Amino acid sequence: MVVIMRADTPASEISRLIKKIEELNCMVNVVKGETQSILGIVGDTTKIDSSIIEANEYVDRITKVQQPYKLANKLFHPSQTIINVDGRTIGGDKLTIIAGPCSVESEEQIIEIAKSVKMSGAGFLRGGAFKPRTSPYSFQGLKLEGLELLKLAKKETGLPIVTEIMSADMIEKFIEDVDVIQVGARNMQNFELLKELGKTNKPILLKRGLSATVEELLMSAEYIMSEGNENVILCERGIRTFETYTRNTLDLSIIPIIKRQSHLPIIVDPSHAAGIWWMVEPLAKAAIAVGADGLIIEVHNDPSNAKCDGQQSIKPEKFKILMDDISKIAKIEGKHI
Ligand code: PEP
Ligand code: MN
Repeated sequence: MVVIMRADTPASEISRLIKKIEELNCMVNVVKGETQSILGIVGDTTKIDSSIIEANEYVDRITKVQQPYKLANKLFHPSQTIINVDGRTIGGDKLTIIAGPCSVESEEQIIEIAKSVKMSGAGFLRGGAFKPRTSPYSFQGLKLEGLELLKLAKKETGLPIVTEIMSADMIEKFIEDVDVIQVGARNMQNFELLKELGKTNKPILLKRGLSATVEELLMSAEYIMSEGNENVILCERGIRTFETYTRNTLDLSIIPIIKRQSHLPIIVDPSHAAGIWWMVEPLAKAAIAVGADGLIIEVHNDPSNAKCDGQQSIKPEKFKILMDDISKIAKIEGKHI
């Protein structure tokens, strides 16, 4: 962090500021210019609340040279994180394919879809039991009954379960029943929930918030990791832009950025990004080509009668074709399903 002091700063103020920064276990190098002084702060500046320095009336401006996330930072953890779930791995040269309906609707529905996505090579089953809907009048999910049905589908197929948690009071139940706990876009900055999930050792699928920056996503991962749980999988699911043709705009540039900045695996959700079923295939392929560690895709056996997100769900037959195409692209990237 570089702090540029105003020209009229008394020497005593500079000394006071240096002392304050040193108390936070950081070192300060002072460059005295003709008119202005510059303080170069080195050490673990992640613990410094820069707004306190900025509030000092003699501080002209601050430039951050270090990222505020530490545990999620590749600088301190150069090797890629590989997460183990029920004998399966997420990250590294393995592609993680999570597929299933937006929401669990019935025993028949979830078991039929689970069987079909497994046959096509999916490694995980998704399905919402607790649904974060924009309208309170829309289907809110089967809740606990939905979790039971997911467990039945797991028993039938062996596919580990990925499902969304909406509040911290469900954590104990989720630890028992769920293999990967999903934090939805709307809860990406629910810091109390993130901290509680950080106290568990369950893999957490953290989806990017609707208008979250890359740094904000990594800071949310940092919340989970700073409590001890380093099993975080990031997910790009589209962000809000001025474009209205698609539900969201898929920001594929986040993949190479994350690969450069972090050691955490990142997967892509083309379904919620596009919001249109026929765009899922090209976006899924593009995600793998750009280096994503996997995909989470909405698959439904009867999209036109789905209780949630039928418009963006692909049918099992389409999913199978997509899986075959993805395997080929994965090879070029040195990955496999
Ligand atoms: C979902 O995966 O079902 C979901 C609601 O996604 P998001 O939080 O990305 O909108
Ligand atoms: Mn959905």
